[in-house]
Amino acid sequence: MATPKASLAKSGRNGHLTLWIVGAIVLAVLLAIFWPSGAIKLKLGGDLFLRLLKMLIVPLVVTSVMSGVIGLGDIRKLGKPGGVAIVYYLATTLLAVVIGIVLVNLMQPGMGLSDDQRAGIEANVASNKDSIHGKMESATSAGAKASTGGILTNLVLSLAPSNLVEHAAKMELLPLIVFSIFFAGILTTMGTKGAPLSLLIVAANDAFLKIVLLLMKAAPLGIFCLVAARFGQAQLDGGLAREFSLIGKYSLTVLIGLAFHALVTLPLIYWMVLRKNPFLFVGKMSQALLTAFSTASSSATLPVTMECATDRAGISRKSVDFVIPIGATVNMDGTALYEAVAAIFIAQLVGMELSLPQQIIVAVTATLAAIGAAGIPEAGLFTMVIVLGAVGLPLDYVAAILSVDWLLDRFRTTVNVFGDAIGAAVVAPLFPEENKMAGTVS
Ligand code: ASP
Repeated sequence: MATPKASLAKSGRNGHLTLWIVGAIVLAVLLAIFWPSGAIKLKLGGDLFLRLLKMLIVPLVVTSVMSGVIGLGDIRKLGKPGGVAIVYYLATTLLAVVIGIVLVNLMQPGMGLSDDQRAGIEANVASNKDSIHGKMESATSAGAKASTGGILTNLVLSLAPSNLVEHAAKMELLPLIVFSIFFAGILTTMGTKGAPLSLLIVAANDAFLKIVLLLMKAAPLGIFCLVAARFGQAQLDGGLAREFSLIGKYSLTVLIGLAFHALVTLPLIYWMVLRKNPFLFVGKMSQALLTAFSTASSSATLPVTMECATDRAGISRKSVDFVIPIGATVNMDGTALYEAVAAIFIAQLVGMELSLPQQIIVAVTATLAAIGAAGIPEAGLFTMVIVLGAVGLPLDYVAAILSVDWLLDRFRTTVNVFGDAIGAAVVAPLFPEENKMAGTVS
């Protein structure tokens, strides 16, 4: 147990690190604006940091989920919290979609465009058509074809893992999670024979979390490089200001929606369930949120999310072990909100009025598309074909929003990660008391 003095020193260090990361992001953006050609040279540093984070994803997810089951002692104890977590994922995703749909209908970003704006958008669609199609397949969490059938089939199939090495190599987390629950569940039935392996798994999990702690010391530098290189590239491409003049209102609609979900809906749920100040919680999760913004990937952020949630926010290890890895793959509130806004924006652009039943179809398919999206940069842009296809909108129009997507992606990924963290906090009280195997990281 940490002494009060030790935890005070820890929270001070925590605050310092967060400040360093915020400073790094601000400096990186300034560098990108004033010296873009220099900023893009930092890509190597950013990639290095990203690779180290990614290195941890598979081992951390597998050992966390396994130690979670080992800590429960009996797989059946997962039933209630597991069920509530699924209800939480679905309910918050749907709420996010509804916010998006209401906002896009109120703000109507695709209506009343000037002729210039319209011509600019049409030109984007015509020139980006081909590059869009190539990227679609890599964007789903299990490499499925980005269609409703493809994604659903794959989700079902991923519940029955096949080649573990292949899943690990492709970072397909869902099948690995299913295997881990199964394997550790069996281990808990083996009594003393299973004990050495259980201890090993729990120890490995602790070690991986300690590596994350160590890696976070380099986070300001890594994040500085990541942000400078990407924003520098945008500055060099020169198109961002122009793009914002074309589809600025659309971007604003997405951002307002995301802000509402992150600052009102999710905090309200947190407060209603736990009666604690949600904004203190935001502070405790800040490093994960800033990493999400910088990497645009919930999967790459996963190690940091888990570390912040256990070590800094003090959520029980059992809840973090289950709710966050699964959440990082299926719970994407930000993505769902954005997909709904984008689809209806496109409908407004092409002059198609969507009836209420059609908007409900958008809501349902946007939820599915978000569940199916992988936790990687811009995955949501491509799984959106499901939503467009479902209501008969032209798929090529994804290109109309392509140019600002890399930036909006950072905001929605931050909301995705925040949703996972709130989920772990809200579900935590439902897990049975700690037993001796779990919670060994101090
Ligand atoms: N980049 C997002 C994530 O990793 C997914 C998306 O919306 O594109 O959470």
